Amino acid sequence: MHIDSETLINALRDQGLRITNARRAVCSVVARRHSEHLTAASILDEVKGEPGARADQSTVYRTLDALEEAGLLVHSHLGHGAAVYHLASEAAHQHVVCSRCGTTAAVPAAGLSEWLNDLQERTGFTVDPTHFAVTGLCPDCGAGDA
Ligand SMILES: [Zn+2]
Ligand SMILES: [Zn+2]
Ligand SMILES: [Zn+2]
Repeated sequence: MHIDSETLINALRDQGLRITNARRAVCSVVARRHSEHLTAASILDEVKGEPGARADQSTVYRTLDALEEAGLLVHSHLGHGAAVYHLASEAAHQHVVCSRCGTTAAVPAAGLSEWLNDLQERTGFTVDPTHFAVTGLCPDCGAGDA
């Protein structure tokens, strides 16, 4: 079950934000394209296509921040570029990114628990395994070196 745009809008309202067309449009883009890796810039592009919505980058960022604060949205960094956003209802996953061509793949975070437990035991840290991607070479780029 995915979070719908009404849920996102209600969360903004709960935080005392005025529900403008622009904020409504951000919520609907995030809810509709939940399975994609959207950056704030690509969300802004989509929002500009929504009827009646006039938004700028800072409106988009403030809205995304508020949704993260509400626990409905999370972001991850896939590499040197901008962060990407997921609905918090998407299954937690760790990304691997090709450092040569930028191709990404994802593995369920649950599969990392053994490594995480070991890390926690050794360092005492409680680790967030999904905030940053792991980089490497994808099969296509790796094959070029063989
Ligand atoms: Zn992802
Ligand atoms: Zn971050
Ligand atoms: Zn590659």
